[in-house]
Amino acid sequence: MRPESQITQIPRRPTLMEVNLTALAQNYRALRDHAAPAKVMAMIKANAYGHGLVSCAQRLTHEGCYSLGVAFIEEAIELRQAGISVPILVFGGIFGAQLKSYLDYGIDISASSISKLQQIEEAARTNGKRARVHLEIDSGIERTGVHHYSSTGLLEETLRCQHCDIVGIFSHFARADEEDLSFSKIQLERFLETLRFFEQRSLPMPIRHMANSAATLRLKESHLDMIRPGICLFGVYPEVHLQQYLPLIPVMSLKSSVVYFKVVKKGSGVSYGHRWIAPQDTRVVTVPIGYGDGYFRLLSNRSSVLIRGHRYPVVGNVCMDQLMVDIGPNGEAYNGDEVVLVGAQGNERISVNELADLVGTITHEILTATNLRVPRVYIG
Ligand SMILES: *Cc1c(COP(=O)(O)O)cnc(C)c1O
Repeated sequence: MRPESQITQIPRRPTLMEVNLTALAQNYRALRDHAAPAKVMAMIKANAYGHGLVSCAQRLTHEGCYSLGVAFIEEAIELRQAGISVPILVFGGIFGAQLKSYLDYGIDISASSISKLQQIEEAARTNGKRARVHLEIDSGIERTGVHHYSSTGLLEETLRCQHCDIVGIFSHFARADEEDLSFSKIQLERFLETLRFFEQRSLPMPIRHMANSAATLRLKESHLDMIRPGICLFGVYPEVHLQQYLPLIPVMSLKSSVVYFKVVKKGSGVSYGHRWIAPQDTRVVTVPIGYGDGYFRLLSNRSSVLIRGHRYPVVGNVCMDQLMVDIGPNGEAYNGDEVVLVGAQGNERISVNELADLVGTITHEILTATNLRVPRVYIG
């Protein structure tokens, strides 16, 4: 967190994200072993799904992770500046003005069209450097990448590039998290068809990669030379039905403390809009975390938290910086008691999947939503 700030010297509010790096390492090894002999590119875009880019990268590379994937060049440069030396691939579309930086920092580049590849070749030539390139094939997500049915032009163009090393070729699944894998299998077929270009011309095959977490768990044929898990590294499943394929350990816990206790009389409305009315005299505690921290306002009157090993409901609207919890007429809680919003306490656990279901979104969004003002605290 912001080292320039003097406020790091004072006791902070107790809200924090606890990141268990031992669990991250264990999940990495479980995925690696599951897909061996395929290599692993750990997908750690968006601040490592909220867990902290550099700390997670350091632990993963310490474990021997072959390479890292991010969305934007800023993320890749931050990793290089932190001393990370493994291959790093940027997946987001490239902007011409950034090409020199890719070359300066030795970052792998996605080539998603003939003109982008030509731009890369030209930048490498004028800068007197060699570019490390991964070719992006769109097999059915209609995002970036050249269509599988018109990929030959891009592949032929690589033969004219004197300053590019074609180190990889990849595609991306659109529906691998669904129970029905039929479209994923079609996508894999299309990608494999594209790869025949190399065999037919006896050209060296670049590293082939396609599998995200869901495909890593369920579609062994898609592992190819390298897998690209993201969410599963963090011990979270894209969908609950995927839990059966590989045991993983949740990496992240979201914690705070009770900061206020009051008795609310029957019939009194709680929080903005009085969207919850106390049905009886009851005890309500306030917790210093809100939607300004990434705890979705959509969780108002829906989610639970753990205090003293018990599960209690969040009542009334979640505020920007605070929320209220009904601990019942006889509930016990004292200022300073730990409040778990995600994670385990006693025998209870609140999973990221639980919050995602309540919000009506995917687990990826819950993880990445946690605002940077919530300090990340590393254990393990
Ligand atoms: C984010 C991402 C992944 C990882 O997806 P998960 O569902 O988190 O495993 C893999 N490949 C690409 C191109 C991605 O953008």
